Amino acid sequence: MNYFKIKKYDIANGKGIRTSIFVSGCTFHCEDCFNYEAWSFSSGHKFDEDAKKELFDLLGDEQCKGLSVLGGEPLMQGQELLDLLKEVRLTFPDKNIWLWTGYYMNELNDLQKEIVSYCDYVIDGRFEKSQAYKKYLFKGSGNQTIWQRQENGEFVVSEYNDM
Ligand code: SF4
Repeated sequence: MNYFKIKKYDIANGKGIRTSIFVSGCTFHCEDCFNYEAWSFSSGHKFDEDAKKELFDLLGDEQCKGLSVLGGEPLMQGQELLDLLKEVRLTFPDKNIWLWTGYYMNELNDLQKEIVSYCDYVIDGRFEKSQAYKKYLFKGSGNQTIWQRQENGEFVVSEYNDM
């Protein structure tokens, strides 16, 4: 897995002060994508042990409320992202995980469903330029939905969805 950047003290992508990782690679190619530089799976840097240490050190900061995963397309990263989220969940059980994907929830395969099962919030759907006339807090266009995972594992529309 390659990543484009790791952002510390991010207050734009999810609730509270967060550590964000922008992974590399996305084949959706939405018109006016905010991060087209990360479309190539070989862009950015290899997510190696040094990058992982940097990410975990930032997540360990008591001010950091959790991890935000953006892209590129997180759900095109396969097992490597699943393993990473499992480890984050085990190491930081009190921090939450937000994930932005261009897939809609009803399009996910089994591996992708397992990845989102480790997330507290999932923002789904391609960026639709025609539905981006309103400025939202945590999503780019009106067709996207902010989902929140319940204790029973089901996702419901979050209170943040219309903000
Ligand atoms: S899914 Fe996201 S990263 Fe991929 S092209 Fe669309 S807006 Fe860009």
